Amino acid sequence: MAFTLHGIAVSRGIAIGRAQLIASTSFEVTHYMIEPDQVEREIRRLDDAVAEVVNELYSVESDLPEESPPEFAALLELHRLILQDPLLSEEPQELIRARHYNAEWALTTQLQAAVAQFDEMADEYIAERRADVEQVIERVLKVLTGTARVFSDLATGHEGTLIVAHDIAPADMMQFKQRLFGGFVTDLGSTTSHSAIVARGLDIPAVVGLGNAARLIRQDELLIIDGDAGVLIVDPSEIVLEEYRLRQRDLELAHAKLKRLRHMPTRTLDEVPIDLWANIELPGDCELADEVGAMGVGLYRTEFLFMNRQGELPDEEEQFAAYLQVVKAMDGRPVTIRTLDIGADKMLDSDMPPTASNPALGLRAIRYCLAEPQMFLAQLRAILRASAFGPVKLLIPMLAHVDEIEQTKVLIEQAREQLRARALAFDAAMPIGGMIEIPAAALSLTSFVKRLDFLSIGTNDLIQYTLAIDRSDSAVAHLYDPIHPAILHLVAQTIAAGARAGIPVSVCGEMAGDARLARLLLGLGLRQFSMHPAQLLSVKQEVLRSDTTRCRTIARKILAASEPARVRMLLESLN
Ligand code: PEP
Ligand code: MG
Repeated sequence: MAFTLHGIAVSRGIAIGRAQLIASTSFEVTHYMIEPDQVEREIRRLDDAVAEVVNELYSVESDLPEESPPEFAALLELHRLILQDPLLSEEPQELIRARHYNAEWALTTQLQAAVAQFDEMADEYIAERRADVEQVIERVLKVLTGTARVFSDLATGHEGTLIVAHDIAPADMMQFKQRLFGGFVTDLGSTTSHSAIVARGLDIPAVVGLGNAARLIRQDELLIIDGDAGVLIVDPSEIVLEEYRLRQRDLELAHAKLKRLRHMPTRTLDEVPIDLWANIELPGDCELADEVGAMGVGLYRTEFLFMNRQGELPDEEEQFAAYLQVVKAMDGRPVTIRTLDIGADKMLDSDMPPTASNPALGLRAIRYCLAEPQMFLAQLRAILRASAFGPVKLLIPMLAHVDEIEQTKVLIEQAREQLRARALAFDAAMPIGGMIEIPAAALSLTSFVKRLDFLSIGTNDLIQYTLAIDRSDSAVAHLYDPIHPAILHLVAQTIAAGARAGIPVSVCGEMAGDARLARLLLGLGLRQFSMHPAQLLSVKQEVLRSDTTRCRTIARKILAASEPARVRMLLESLN
């Protein structure tokens, strides 16, 4: 049956294809009602799956080596008994019969009831059996669904495969990059969550914050993702499909037209040159940056090299090889390498539990690096070594205190000494810049500009911290507002402070890649934009059509406006 879900549009375009469900836990299953005449078939499906697991357990038991401790066989027997317990074997059948639940739904509903009983047990030994019950049910669910449960189970994808998940961690998104998918939808997430940022980089349509998609959609169901409107259409009619196919073709034509802008110099109508840089996550992204004619890399998020490694971090050599690959690919164009920005929503492994109650305010980014000087030194040496092969700039994330700049500089000097001792070359004049993404930094620019060679405004975090909005929380995503007067003032002040001090200022947060905000940023005096390559040509198109004097006049009015409605009205007139 066709239905539509509304969420947050995070990456533009239209994708049409079949659902590939991805579960972050094995207990995340699709819920649907079956027809009355399907009841017996559904019960058989459940019984068959249980029988298969029972057989599996028997065969594991018979394959146990002679010398195995007797507890092993006892455990397997326990698992078989759990499966045969009426609570788990008969009750789910009743749910299928009475409520017409699908088998997976019936089984997980009953599991929840069983788990609740275990949680009430005072006896520790019995309470521990909860894990056994969960393991057994997980086995049955695997047999029932027969689909990929986690990313690593997916061999490969193709453009007609659309990912449906409850949530996707940035570390999992990296695995996404190595495969081909047409688009994705998630129940959680927001515009600047890192998964959304990666989707925009991949240039595939994505809608997040859908609430319940992962439970409602079935494996292989036909979907349309409308990444412009933030809409997901499930099982569309032929008429709707045809309409979207037409829109898809129009978008492809518009895309092809944009490509013609690649070789044009980026100048406004009044001849002001503008620098458009690329944000990258992995060395392979340079190809895209090159395709759209980026003038360099404005933000290389090195943390992605550190993800999904089960605790084993890349050493200096591995990092050097990656940074060098980027420097060589950019062939003389500057590469801004940001030091490790780990923590909060960018955990090293997707299954790593958050250790702080408020990780976004915890030991992340530069704070983490300064607390782990040996690890940080290895990265600094790798970056310095890459600087011997082309123009490299080093960017420090999450600065709030000038001491953090001073301490980083001490470590950079130490890294230089270590390289000198090994007779390894580096650029002694490598510029050192800082991210302005914490309000405290934007409000203490006088002391920051004295110590830095350039600034880069990270609007994603600047908005998160100024408006107290968790950037990855879909529940508050509607409050995440790049044109909030407070944000515009902080951005304007930072650009002005850089100009006064004679140091370059760029914006590398998602604001820079939003073509609807390009004129406003030009009007605030911005001359360097860094964004995902996929966004670069549409921003370039805006720049080519803009006049900085007009942009400045209206931007001033926007800054003076205190009412959000007036800000929006003025922004519309500017565009
Ligand atoms: C930002 O915060 O705007 C930024 C560019 O960094 P990240 O999105 O990686 O936190
Ligand atoms: Mg940031």
